[in-house]
Amino acid sequence: MDIPTLPSKVPGYDLYIDGFHALRRPKLLQGSNITHVVSVIDWKFQNVWAALRGFQHLHIPLDDVYDSNILSYFPRSNAFIHDGLKHSRPSQSTNPQEAVTKDGSLTPIAGGILVHCAMGVSRSATIVIAYLLWHSRQTTTIRQPSGDPSSESPEMVSLPPTPLSVDSALRLVRECRPQVEPNSGFIKQLRMYEAMGCPTTQQELESHKIYRRWMNSREVMDALSNNHAPEMAHISFRDEEDEEDEDAFQPRPLDSLADKVEALDLSNPEGDDPTEITNPDITLSSPAPATPLPANLEIKCRKCRRLLAKSAFILPHKPPPHRDPSAKQSDDPCAHVFLHPLSWMRTTLSQGGLDGRLTCPTQWCGANIGKFAWQGLRCSCGGWVTPGFGLAKGKVDEVRVSGKKAEPGSEEGNANRRQGYASAVRLPPSMKKGASNGNL
Ligand SMILES: [Zn+2]
Ligand SMILES: [Zn+2]
Repeated sequence: MDIPTLPSKVPGYDLYIDGFHALRRPKLLQGSNITHVVSVIDWKFQNVWAALRGFQHLHIPLDDVYDSNILSYFPRSNAFIHDGLKHSRPSQSTNPQEAVTKDGSLTPIAGGILVHCAMGVSRSATIVIAYLLWHSRQTTTIRQPSGDPSSESPEMVSLPPTPLSVDSALRLVRECRPQVEPNSGFIKQLRMYEAMGCPTTQQELESHKIYRRWMNSREVMDALSNNHAPEMAHISFRDEEDEEDEDAFQPRPLDSLADKVEALDLSNPEGDDPTEITNPDITLSSPAPATPLPANLEIKCRKCRRLLAKSAFILPHKPPPHRDPSAKQSDDPCAHVFLHPLSWMRTTLSQGGLDGRLTCPTQWCGANIGKFAWQGLRCSCGGWVTPGFGLAKGKVDEVRVSGKKAEPGSEEGNANRRQGYASAVRLPPSMKKGASNGNL
């Protein structure tokens, strides 16, 4: 016999998380004023299943696996949860009895939400965290149900002072339920949702570039798992997307602060890691990108000088984590520079090969400049990049273009720059002049 335990209540919300067993005790749920139930489980609920009688019910049929698309349900689950919570009363002033009518069903005023899956660990927690992310981004001027539409008076809703991040929302949920652990694919989808600014509607979500890229990359992975090259329609050519959106997708500090970030070597362990944003294209390889690249790099064909890629199209990678730490790291262990798919590769990729050569798109040149493999390339540093579009560093030139807010000393050669950065870890020369009062 299992001991009846109350579902875990998220601090500050009438929002509960539990496993499937919670449904076996509908009286207990009603006692907690729960009126709405979200079932995140791939299970066929009977419409008139007794345990759910009297509850508003949202069913999300989903398995707890890495590649389940739980993200696509966030707008629906958020709306459902929000609707339920809108009517909720402060829990301390609620008498459970008065919420239950004579026939055992619940009046719609007192709202608490139970989100359950099988164990209350991954799926249900993901749905709850998505709601917390979305909710913490809404303004406090929520229209009151009975309010005059012309009055903009803010409702008395206590919102967190700052938008929650995935990590802070996860911490909050673990306060009431320490075992919460969304699977890694769900965490990635939560981070994408956060990076998108938590779209409210299905339409906003599905039209968002990050979402579309991710869906494309799922299609690509689907094709690859069947040993097919992906269809052209599912390939996102980065250079064909407009620049404004591109900025929105780039981790901020790589833009204006790129040089300083590089100078400081990104080694601050507690600071927000700007490389943390999940790249939806990288589905198989290590999710954490390597050191950010300078923002002003151009890759050119060594033979004909054609521009092949700018910094934004370069895909950072890093060697595998379990390398022998005593091994001397050479300055640049990578023989290749990896790119996102770019439109000049279209002709090559449209031939449908799973792998092959990349040649310079200049017709008279046609130099053999690298290779691609949809199922991944291994760099000489040991890191995998999937899919891999690698240009051989011996066949291309990496050029730093000056002009865009060049820092003093930025026109020096690579070796000098490298040296400059080494000393800049303590105090970048550019800052030494401007801020001589030791602000660093
Ligand atoms: Zn060329
Ligand atoms: Zn490498």
